[in-house]
Amino acid sequence: MSSYDVIIVGAGPAGATLGYELGRRGLAVLILEKEKIPRYKPCAGGITSRALSLLDFDISAVTERIAYGVRIMYQFSDEFIKRHKEPLVYLVMRSKFDHLLVQKAQEAGVSLVDGVRADELEITASGVKVMTPEGPFNAKVVAGADGAKGMVAKRLGLMRDVELGIAIEAEVSVTQDKLEDWDSLIGLDYGQIPDGYAWVFPKKDHLSVGVGGPVHLSKRLKPYLERLLQHLGEYDITDLTGHLMPLRRRGMAIQRGNVLLLGDAAGLIHPLTGEGIYYAIRSAQLAAPVIAGALHADTINLKDYQQAVDSQLMHGLEEGRAILKIFSQSPRFYFDLVKGSDIVWMHICQALLGARPAFV
Ligand SMILES: Cc1cc2nc3c(=O)[nH]c(=O)nc-3n(C[C@H](O)[C@H](O)[C@H](O)COP(=O)(O)OP(=O)(O)OC[C@H]3O[C@@H](n4cnc5c(N)ncnc54)[C@H](O)[C@@H]3O)c2cc1C
Repeated sequence: MSSYDVIIVGAGPAGATLGYELGRRGLAVLILEKEKIPRYKPCAGGITSRALSLLDFDISAVTERIAYGVRIMYQFSDEFIKRHKEPLVYLVMRSKFDHLLVQKAQEAGVSLVDGVRADELEITASGVKVMTPEGPFNAKVVAGADGAKGMVAKRLGLMRDVELGIAIEAEVSVTQDKLEDWDSLIGLDYGQIPDGYAWVFPKKDHLSVGVGGPVHLSKRLKPYLERLLQHLGEYDITDLTGHLMPLRRRGMAIQRGNVLLLGDAAGLIHPLTGEGIYYAIRSAQLAAPVIAGALHADTINLKDYQQAVDSQLMHGLEEGRAILKIFSQSPRFYFDLVKGSDIVWMHICQALLGARPAFV
């Protein structure tokens, strides 16, 4: 049986970043991942500039395109393009981006066991035992970075009442002309589903497209995706996947005893934009000093982590929820507002760049 300071369940951006941060602090860390790495992840693959600024290494090797502007559509019938002088969103395939983050964690001394699912947790006198088909692994602390349907949260009875969004993602091949229509742009469509939207995020040789909205409107998402695909013209679908998006509210427990939750497992997704990679990385960066400090103390106390998330991340997520509510009442009005106002557009750019702490 193997023993570690920390076992991280899940090798997405949250788990890999936590591994990187803890490995650099000299801790004995294992990342357990159920898929073989690299693995496909349904995601538009947009890394905002503010998310990129959290990383202290280069991601150009996995960046397929860079968006300097947005084509904003209203029900596919009206559209405008707004551009910015600086990059707004870096477009990646998650298989490659997440693999890079895992490699950085491994370079920092972290062990990876992939293709092995964590099935159960057992709290022991010395910490936590993680059960897998390959046998148990022991650690003083366990981090659940296992995504929206995470086993760790379920076993601890956490996140039970979390509000859910849902998204469908498709990877589609289009003609070269159509692909180049999206050069240096991403696309967003509004006004078809309350609290929902569609996106077009171009990659090197195809488009990542999708639709998202509240879970109770899930039946309307597939027809919406079909309308989006028709709007794009001739296409060929290679992957089509649905995925849940949990949306935490302040105070909801994301830590119990020697276990804490990160990223999607903790419901840290922006309600307005669906951005989760920024929050996955940030939550890992907030958890790392708390875990490292706790492991040096006589008794392990991880409570400061939840307080840090509440005080440093929830304000932006709550603001997003409030803006979504206002926006949904009159999407056409706000479409016209962004179209006609360079000041509003500048605010959106600043939020994507991380120049403002919150807003989108
Ligand atoms: C369709 C869609 C589009 C999106 N587009 C964007 C976007 O453009 N930009 C953005 O910022 N965010 C986007 N998001 C959100 C983003 O994908 C997530 O917020 C982000 O992946 C969260 O990272 P994570 O590390 O918390 O979880 P994940 O990336 O989901 O990683 C969790 C990992 O845990 C593993 N795992 C799960 N259970 C177990 C287990 N029992 N044992 C071992 N391993 C396990 C999984 O295999 C997975 O590798 C999108 C989400 C969806 C659904």
